Amino acid sequence: MLIGAHVSPAGGPAKAVERGTEAGCTAIQIFNQNPRAWKPSVYSDEQIAAYHETLDASPVDALLIHAVYLLNCASEDPEIRAKTLTSLIASLRAGAALGAAGVVLHPGSAKTGEVGPAIERAGAVIREALAESEDCPLHLENTAGAGGTLGRSFEELAGLFDAAGGDPRLGMCLDSCHLYASGFDIRTSDGLTKVLDDCVALVGVERLGSLHLNDSQGKLGSNVDRHALLGEGEIGEDGCAVFLSEPRFRDLPVIMETPKSEEQPDQIKRCLELRERGLAARA
Ligand SMILES: [Zn+2]
Ligand SMILES: [Zn+2]
Repeated sequence: MLIGAHVSPAGGPAKAVERGTEAGCTAIQIFNQNPRAWKPSVYSDEQIAAYHETLDASPVDALLIHAVYLLNCASEDPEIRAKTLTSLIASLRAGAALGAAGVVLHPGSAKTGEVGPAIERAGAVIREALAESEDCPLHLENTAGAGGTLGRSFEELAGLFDAAGGDPRLGMCLDSCHLYASGFDIRTSDGLTKVLDDCVALVGVERLGSLHLNDSQGKLGSNVDRHALLGEGEIGEDGCAVFLSEPRFRDLPVIMETPKSEEQPDQIKRCLELRERGLAARA
């Protein structure tokens, strides 16, 4: 299991690798553009070369790119749809250039509209973006289920994969906080096993692509997307240990999105300890 955190890409992707290395990461996640602006950034050949050089000399073995939150693949507004598509294609192309394990995407929101047609609209945008880019996997992230957000259940994720044409580049990023807030009790190994059995039955084990490990400030089923540091939320230390030691997660990169840069070295250390604790409890 490659373990790490969401890090700042300020100064270019090579800098992000350096920050991750300093914090003790073997996996990192970055935004590939300003999260508050639509303008997609395109990395120069120099930036890409510097990134690969830094990566090769570092303990970091997996990069995830998080698409920014402005995107809404399910939007009915033609302007938002067009901007979303442009930005998603740019993220996937950046992912291919950097050899990313995947681009992580919040699939979209139906807003106040119906979920079924929203899934079809999102699927069409995703299909187009995949056709306009090469190689890089796209991981749809499960959501906490607030408002009309798509992807709160494995049924919805399966619907999104179908609507997007079932491309083998499509995968899933499971976020522990979002699972818990959506009503999946993943705090015990039995609980997580049951949730994953349903996931595998509905979506397929091959779609498991990456993980976000965030503790949850919101209660089970609260639909509140508010992250907490490891062990400081409702999932708790034991629940985090269960997540980190789940056999079906063993080969996936796991990213903590919550800790600020100064908290990351300590959280990475705790993460490694909790993984050992979880593995010992299962032995
Ligand atoms: Zn997440
Ligand atoms: Zn979240």
